[in-house]
Amino acid sequence: MNIILLGPPGAGKGTQAKKLEEKYGLKQLSTGDMLRAEIAAGSELGLKAKSIMDGGHLISDDIIIGMIENRIEQDDCAKGVIFDGFPRTVPQAEALDKMLAAKGHSLKSVIHLVVDEEALVGRLNNRIAEMKAAGQEIRGDDNEDTLRERLKVFRDQTAPIIPYYKGKNMLAEVDGMGSIDGVEAQIDAILTA
Ligand code: ADP
Repeated sequence: MNIILLGPPGAGKGTQAKKLEEKYGLKQLSTGDMLRAEIAAGSELGLKAKSIMDGGHLISDDIIIGMIENRIEQDDCAKGVIFDGFPRTVPQAEALDKMLAAKGHSLKSVIHLVVDEEALVGRLNNRIAEMKAAGQEIRGDDNEDTLRERLKVFRDQTAPIIPYYKGKNMLAEVDGMGSIDGVEAQIDAILTA
């Protein structure tokens, strides 16, 4: 079973992905986490990616598509994948369709976590305050200005994949403003329908 979790930054995709991993034995693939691992490793890609990510912009489709293509071949993806933060553009969505078709696989559902943008800014500021209080390191793209830029990038470049999947009858909308358990229950209802 392959699923996409779709929604703007801070919508709770990562939180729900972790729950789905445990329940269904799927593998969460977060392109953001993969890029942050490259940065931590100091690779050539990581060096290039850091300033783009810190500015709230997208890494090129070619790089992202290549990364996912290699990753889904690995054994831990055999039972299926939860795509988190990918696809973020229509060309990425088209490439994913081709990749899955070539393996004889398909997408079960694209779950759109619908959230209120102003509430996301509030959530981010709370999270930063909590992390600072706990003495934790704040991500380079974790600040209000970058979040506002990332929300704009989501509207301009990622939101067009919503009609793309609607046209394929794959889109399911979930109210992402509820409690974590409430959102989880909505997702379960979609996946077991
Ligand atoms: P969050 O989980 O906080 O919503 P991510 O960790 O998914 O954010 O992404 C962080 C940054 O990594 C993005 O702002 C972008 O620069 C880059 N990135 C992640 N996934 C992609 C992608 N599929 N295409 C292009 N850039 C990406």
